[in-house]
Amino acid sequence: MSIKQTILLFISVYLFIFIVGGIGYYYTHPTGSAALSQNPALVVLSHKEYQQHPPIKPALPKKEPSGKIAYLTFDDGPDRYVTPLVLDTLKKENIKATFFVTGEAASANKDLLAKNYLAGNSIGNHTYSHNYRLLYKKPQSFWNDFKRAEDIIYQDIGIRPHIFRCPYGSYPGFTAPFRQMMGGKGYVFFDWDIDSTDSNRRNMSVSSIRTATLTQINRLDKQDARLVILFHDGGGHKNSALALPDVIHDLKKRGYAFGVLTPDVKPVQFKAKT
Ligand SMILES: [Zn+2]
Repeated sequence: MSIKQTILLFISVYLFIFIVGGIGYYYTHPTGSAALSQNPALVVLSHKEYQQHPPIKPALPKKEPSGKIAYLTFDDGPDRYVTPLVLDTLKKENIKATFFVTGEAASANKDLLAKNYLAGNSIGNHTYSHNYRLLYKKPQSFWNDFKRAEDIIYQDIGIRPHIFRCPYGSYPGFTAPFRQMMGGKGYVFFDWDIDSTDSNRRNMSVSSIRTATLTQINRLDKQDARLVILFHDGGGHKNSALALPDVIHDLKKRGYAFGVLTPDVKPVQFKAKT
């Protein structure tokens, strides 16, 4: 065999190993949604499986930072289309937020909920059905629906969130007996200081969401402000996602840090209807 032939043979062998190895790697390390469903941390776990292999749990900050803090919150998701837009923006801006998910949406989008949680965002309970008449009939009906959502979240990401948001806010439906029951069980609810108005009516425009939010930020902006800002990432709320970057840039310019809601954050709550 001539030197030239030997070199060619070596090159062929290397190329063969490279190509076959590459194909093998691709099939054993898929990307995108295939990666999501094969990542052991994201597989939907039974209770027993969860105890044996708890999912990776991103640490939420124990203490609130000092200074101005904005808490971006998103209700009614996850949604196939809107939630990824929101997650992309948060990632790009290198900030975290809080998502109050419904059990109904979570059970339809388990991979998205897991992806959201593993990105380090805080997950809260927004009940299973989001049905006003059913939820606020009596405390027990609220609890049954809430628990149903909690079980779905737990089966998906292995946590039982101790923060929640009442569908339509705590006023007027979530009266004193409801508050006593949920508080007694150790759950904390959050209303909001700023309403992006993105659910005032269907298809609120990007500019009206942006203007309403920026106006309220301007009004409440002060040293040590704590702003809980209401957005929605449920189906049909694409315009909320599109208004988000400008809101974040405004808050950054004003010197806000971005926090996530946990049971340790002092809650913003509307007064109970008497
Ligand atoms: Zn809602």
